[in-house]
Amino acid sequence: MSDILLLPSYPTGSYNFIKRLLSADIVTPNLETSAKPFSINESASHPISPIKLTIAIIGGGVGGLAAAIALKQDGHNVTLYEQAPQLSEIGAGIQIPPNSSRILHSWGLQAALERQSIRPSGITWRRWQDGCVIGHAKLGSEILQKYGSPYYVTHRAHLHDALYQRTKELKVPVILNHKAKSYDFNNASVTFEDGTVVDADLVIAADGLKSIARKALTSINDKGPEGHGLAAYRCTVSMAAIKADPLISRIAQKPSLNLWVGHNRHVMAYPIAGGERYNMVLTHPEPSSTIQNLSSDGLTQMKSQFNGWDPCLMRLLDLVNEAVKWPIQSIDVPDRWASESRRTILTGDAAHAMTPYMALGAAMAVEDAAALAAALRHMSQPEDLVDIIDKWTKIRIPGVKAVHEASIAQGLIMHFADGPVQQARDVALAVELKDFPFDESPNQWSDPTMTEWVYKYDVVEAMHHEWIR
Ligand SMILES: Cc1cc2nc3c(=O)[nH]c(=O)nc-3n(C[C@H](O)[C@H](O)[C@H](O)COP(=O)(O)OP(=O)(O)OC[C@H]3O[C@@H](n4cnc5c(N)ncnc54)[C@H](O)[C@@H]3O)c2cc1C
Repeated sequence: MSDILLLPSYPTGSYNFIKRLLSADIVTPNLETSAKPFSINESASHPISPIKLTIAIIGGGVGGLAAAIALKQDGHNVTLYEQAPQLSEIGAGIQIPPNSSRILHSWGLQAALERQSIRPSGITWRRWQDGCVIGHAKLGSEILQKYGSPYYVTHRAHLHDALYQRTKELKVPVILNHKAKSYDFNNASVTFEDGTVVDADLVIAADGLKSIARKALTSINDKGPEGHGLAAYRCTVSMAAIKADPLISRIAQKPSLNLWVGHNRHVMAYPIAGGERYNMVLTHPEPSSTIQNLSSDGLTQMKSQFNGWDPCLMRLLDLVNEAVKWPIQSIDVPDRWASESRRTILTGDAAHAMTPYMALGAAMAVEDAAALAAALRHMSQPEDLVDIIDKWTKIRIPGVKAVHEASIAQGLIMHFADGPVQQARDVALAVELKDFPFDESPNQWSDPTMTEWVYKYDVVEAMHHEWIR
């Protein structure tokens, strides 16, 4: 409870049920400190800079590929370096909220997303023990109407491949088998393990949670990835097998997400791969911080973690043949994402790896990239880079910190032990099950304040706004 009392510092009505429970003003959302502005509708002129930079991007995950697309589209001379022999992603699902899909569409990815993703109708919150419906966030036409772009769920490999194909169309050189070993931050130069040295005008380190660039750039302040005593089993099962089983086929009837919540555990499940696979992420207590492919004993342990949960969920777990156990880790978002010269910067998980409970980590990497491209359009001479990167970090760091906090808050909301707080949450959630409007909910996917703040946010407009106010 003490953790909860410190929250939140961003706009949300999701904690008002605790405020009421304590019948005091102990939990007061501090809207003054909220860092992310609402969408800026005022029309700004969006210049395209005459200055074209030579940019080296380190890392070919969603963050690196997004930066490559955004910057190459604006005419910069971009090269991406990836340590692995091939680009790939873990075989699990990913949610793409409208603040991210809007940007991806603007980069020409709409057709690929529509082809391979699902537009879910909503997220159904279920009680852990019996699957009883306790809440529901509408994600279908409501999201499209309100925020002008859809909410998708998709296979990670499909999102990653769509981004990669776009970099190929744009003719971005993607150099594999190149592991960055060290950086000369001020001269924007990178040395790779094979001894190759690459010089650029701007180096973007998109090297993920365990970023060596972040470690070097923030030096003693970087505590590295921190565990939360939890891990997620990530797996998919055949949708055809679900449909063929009368005890669970109802799960496959609607293209929606199901979220079972219980003490210190939750299960997020949704269709991916155009509806052919059913993705499941099962969060549970786990002290170890290593990624592990599960053996058959491991699969049995996975089931035992959820003993006593909804029989429908247990039946789904019987269909799992393989799974990966993935530690839940995040970093303290550093206050500095750029070198003194501003010629080396961090982006994506390297800058802000967060807990996955709001499904916004990759979306923030997409926003980072779009914002950076927008900022660089204001460059009229090379000396402007310092001001441009400062404005970019001024917009990105506080906003991402708030989303980082919202993700932790979401974990707390989902993980209450049965008792008064859980009951108060479920009573407050029940407004979502009635067919009339509501102005707050513990569910951050549907709390109107929270969704306006995250989903309506237009990072490109926010960035340009820095030059017109
Ligand atoms: C269980 C779980 C569920 C999630 N669900 C969602 C979701 O639904 N929606 C969402 O938006 N986000 C979600 N996220 C978060 C999302 O997965 C990450 O935020 C996102 O993938 C980060 O992308 P990235 O490119 O920054 O980092 P990464 O994907 O880690 O990519 C880093 C790349 O850099 C390369 N690299 C590393 N070091 C070097 C080096 N020295 N030299 C060269 N290359 C290097 C790596 O090989 C890798 O390819 C989830 C995360 C987890 C753990």
